[in-house]
Amino acid sequence: MEAELKGLLSDLQSLKDSLPDPSHQISVGKIQARLEHLKLGNAQRSKIKDMSAEVVDSNPYSRLMALQRMGIVDNYERIREFSVAIVGIGGVGSVAAEMLTRCGIGRLLLYDYDKVELANMNRLFFRPEQVGMTKTDAAVQTLSDINPDVVLESYTLNITTVQGFEIFMSSLKNKSFRPDKEGTGVDLVLSCVDNYEARMVVNQGCNELNQTWMESGVSENAVSGHIQLLVPGETACFACAPPLVVASGVDERTLKREGVCAASLPTTMGVVAGLLVQNTLKYLLKFGNVTPYLGYNALKDYFPTMEMKPNPQCSNAACLERQKEYILAKPARDAAARAKMEAEAFVEPECLHADNEWNISVVDDSDVQDSSASSGALPEGLVHELPSADEFQKPPASAETTATPIDDLEDLRKQLEALNAA
Ligand SMILES: [Zn+2]
Repeated sequence: MEAELKGLLSDLQSLKDSLPDPSHQISVGKIQARLEHLKLGNAQRSKIKDMSAEVVDSNPYSRLMALQRMGIVDNYERIREFSVAIVGIGGVGSVAAEMLTRCGIGRLLLYDYDKVELANMNRLFFRPEQVGMTKTDAAVQTLSDINPDVVLESYTLNITTVQGFEIFMSSLKNKSFRPDKEGTGVDLVLSCVDNYEARMVVNQGCNELNQTWMESGVSENAVSGHIQLLVPGETACFACAPPLVVASGVDERTLKREGVCAASLPTTMGVVAGLLVQNTLKYLLKFGNVTPYLGYNALKDYFPTMEMKPNPQCSNAACLERQKEYILAKPARDAAARAKMEAEAFVEPECLHADNEWNISVVDDSDVQDSSASSGALPEGLVHELPSADEFQKPPASAETTATPIDDLEDLRKQLEALNAA
């Protein structure tokens, strides 16, 4: 069987090489990919019902369950209850999907309308024999081989179309995977798209559904990126603060048509995907500090972090609704935070500071008036790749601006301005 498949694959390769028409080559490529899949299928492992901590070479979860034994995570196996939606299965999204699959996430929802191209091979994840397949199909093929325990749902659609958006929203609301879950059917949405329009659509959907999401982006010159946590009503939404990644006022589709090509590196995309999934794991499994915003400047190995409050003048109506709800729920939240702090102070007074979660102190009613500053006015057509420095690790009681990060952020902004002008 194995030898026969091998012979068939090499025959197909000769046939593909002899075909002058690229569209025929793609069709043959698809057959090759399916055969490869069959060949690999022989070696595929079977599903595993319960995650085991047993330290044997044949256990795919032993190293993950060790996180529990070492006190990093309270209950690692909970990861199987979580659903994560990944919008955009490109250089960042595909790698994020693979990481979550290897970590044993319960369910992944994958959204993309694009096909795999040879021009994607400078990035991780996709393979040349998958050229011509949709990114969602190719991803399902690879991910189901890596870990058959993960429930994979693929949506080959464009969320910026009316029909695509409807399916996107109903798929997020579907709770068949965990009927007792509160809110939507997913625990987190990861935005890994490469354009402004799609980010605004994810923002709209998540604001409407009160769905926490994380945004990620890599700059067009491939040497900086960021991740950002967006909790509707609690932190700035994508419409509250100026877009952080690409030039606004430019239609990316036009750029694509005219053959203008953004740069990309597997390194930067891998770093950003790693940061994104690290933050996702911390958020889902409740360990460490979930970062509200983390930038990455590859040229200087500089990682700025900051918090962004929602803008009370945000143009997004659903965001304003969520902001109102968040303020109304403040007394209950304060009481819960107080009770938690008291309980912790009683058990381990020395740990009080380390356990102070960022989200308790981010937004306070008294601060709301200042928050428009974080949405910083910029000349038309210019956007920040990285946020302005005035929010950078600002001590709560101090009005002083930080001195050191400003230079770097200014440098970054200049780089982006130069990029936009080019
Ligand atoms: Zn907003």
